[in-house]
Amino acid sequence: MADTSRWDNVPVTDYYGENCFSEEKMQKYLSKEAFQQFQQVKHGERYLSSMLASEVAEAMKSWAVEKGATHFTHWFQPLTGLTAEKHDSFLHADRNGKAIMEFSKDELIKGEGDASSLPSGGLRATFEARGYTAWDSSSPAFIKETGGSKILYIPTAFFSFNELALDKKVPLLRSIQAIEKQTIRILKLLGNSNVHKVFVNTGIEQEYFLIEREFYDRRPDLRLSNRTIIGNIAAKGQELNDHYYGAISERVSSFMKELNIELWRLGICSKTQHKEAAPNQFEIAVLFEDANLSIDHNQVVMEVLQEVALRHGLVAILHEKPFKGVNGSGKHNNWSLSTDDGQNLFSPGDNAEENMQFLLFLTCFLKAVDSYQGLLISTVASASNCYRLGGNEAPPAILSVYLGGFLTNLLERFSNNEHCHSDSGQEVKLGIFAIPKLPKDMTDRNRTSPLAFTGNKFEFRMPGSSQSISDSTTVLNTIMAQALEEASDRIESSQDKNNAVAEIIKENYQLHKRIVFNGDSYNNDWSTIEARKRGLDMNEKTVDQIVQCSSEEALSVFEHQNVLSRDELSSRCIINLQTFSKQINIEAAVMSEMIQKGVLPVAEKAISGFFKSIERQKKGGCDVSLQLVNAQDLSCRIEKCFALVSELHLAVAKAQAIKDDDLLQAKAYEDEVKDLLMSIRVESDFLETNIDKEAWPYPSYDDLLFK
Ligand code: ADP
Ligand code: MG
Repeated sequence: MADTSRWDNVPVTDYYGENCFSEEKMQKYLSKEAFQQFQQVKHGERYLSSMLASEVAEAMKSWAVEKGATHFTHWFQPLTGLTAEKHDSFLHADRNGKAIMEFSKDELIKGEGDASSLPSGGLRATFEARGYTAWDSSSPAFIKETGGSKILYIPTAFFSFNELALDKKVPLLRSIQAIEKQTIRILKLLGNSNVHKVFVNTGIEQEYFLIEREFYDRRPDLRLSNRTIIGNIAAKGQELNDHYYGAISERVSSFMKELNIELWRLGICSKTQHKEAAPNQFEIAVLFEDANLSIDHNQVVMEVLQEVALRHGLVAILHEKPFKGVNGSGKHNNWSLSTDDGQNLFSPGDNAEENMQFLLFLTCFLKAVDSYQGLLISTVASASNCYRLGGNEAPPAILSVYLGGFLTNLLERFSNNEHCHSDSGQEVKLGIFAIPKLPKDMTDRNRTSPLAFTGNKFEFRMPGSSQSISDSTTVLNTIMAQALEEASDRIESSQDKNNAVAEIIKENYQLHKRIVFNGDSYNNDWSTIEARKRGLDMNEKTVDQIVQCSSEEALSVFEHQNVLSRDELSSRCIINLQTFSKQINIEAAVMSEMIQKGVLPVAEKAISGFFKSIERQKKGGCDVSLQLVNAQDLSCRIEKCFALVSELHLAVAKAQAIKDDDLLQAKAYEDEVKDLLMSIRVESDFLETNIDKEAWPYPSYDDLLFK
């Protein structure tokens, strides 16, 4: 545990952002002219000149070295979904052996390395290993302190020698440009010419589990595959709802205190913290900000969470479904659009029914999501998130949008040319004098919707806790840009613009209203009957969901909006399929090891003990009939485990033998290997319930979730 008492009596505002090379610090370290020029570069108004790059590099180095940093790194987000870094020291030695700290403009703006071991999905052969990183001047550099070292992190984009995107930042930045272009265009057509800049905002809620390091270390499944692949549920789960929003223990409070201090010092505005539904599950939400920054920050949050937890003897688990029988962890992506003249484009204002601009953006959103359901789902489909989606705790893998009764009625009436009347502006009256009257929200909360309108933003709840929301944000931006472009084309070519806008709103709603669902998405009738009736995309298999990312319509919208070329997008699909197969392959190897080296030897010993004891009891004239049945049953389970593990080995060998067809291989893992993992678990969990806890080789769910 780090000593945080240094900050105890210091206002947060004094140290907030001290480890971030913010605009304020830039202003201090740069000449006035250079600072102004840098602002223009950041806002896309001019290119970075060589002279300016030199000045910024010098300023960044001076600040970092004064703070004790010894190294810098180009920090990027390859297609592993994690971050990557390689450290270089600022140190140079002259001919006389004198040390100097240097950092050139070239080192700031471009990095080149042999990055051949990072996934490229066929975009690069191993012998063509060059990968480049380019400075992303829109996300500030920061100093990360780990284990006493201080490293300057420079956010960068990562691409190949032939200029193809190899990371999650390049398409995100391109999609932000695409939506900005189309938003400004449509706003101009609506008579709003004051907007020069559009912001995509994301606010990220991150769920995680905290468990004792001591128990984690003794669970190979948690260490190697981040989830428990065997383990019987404890006598108690989350049925009493006694964890959600409960009082936070001293131990976890001390962890959260240190986590917040670390994040605040980095300029990451962590805002909300609470206990989540499952035992030992928690959430942290960071204040929304520009999407590029927010996504960089979420990567840092995930890393810092894990580092700080370790210092407290805990392990932070980010897997989507680490434990059977209790809720898994998600990551809510709160997404909105705003402008430099202060508008939130999804804010209905006081008179939603007269706010044509709002209704146009709202219905373009419905059109976008309905038209590209499969593409949006593909951004959350993974070998780990599939255990969570549809598990009665998270939305199913069927897309729908919650609008709430008020807006749905309004759109229904509007599209039928009926009079719309407002009941907004209402107040909540509890009839208790001590409680003030509160303005009533336009929509209630719907906790089960995969994509809910929450007043002035959309909350996409399908992403999993370990995933970067870069993919889902890129898709939301791209498909929205497409819907806005199609609307603008129509408005532009019409004689009567107001009429055209009204017609587009009606048409968007009428043609795409099947995507609106205000009911309970966890209800079985929705996923089995209603969604099917509406013809919504219903791919139950994860592999089928993954491949939707390179469907013909996905390829063409990405290409049209200049976000990803066909080759770039197809390579991502290949990587996602390969990652899916690799993850299940790891789980299979871990399962085989845990069963063969841990469960079976212990179970055999226990059973032979049972039989010996039964013999002795029999000799003593006792009735042992039930004990005998039980011992025989356990013996059968052991036999079954043996057989299933052999079957697992065969299924893995079969899947591995499929070369040169990533789709077929992923299907083999999903259809055969994954099912066997579940069958083995059933037997192992049964054995666990019948064998002495002291003898069982792995910490139990009771240890993991209730200690
Ligand atoms: P919930 O009720 O879903 O648990 P939280 O308060 O935990 O909500 O988190 C809501 C998230 O939405 C926060 O990260 C918050 O900053 C973010 N948010 C609020 N307003 C906007 C907005 N206009 N655009 C994007 N995100 C927003
Ligand atoms: Mg939420």
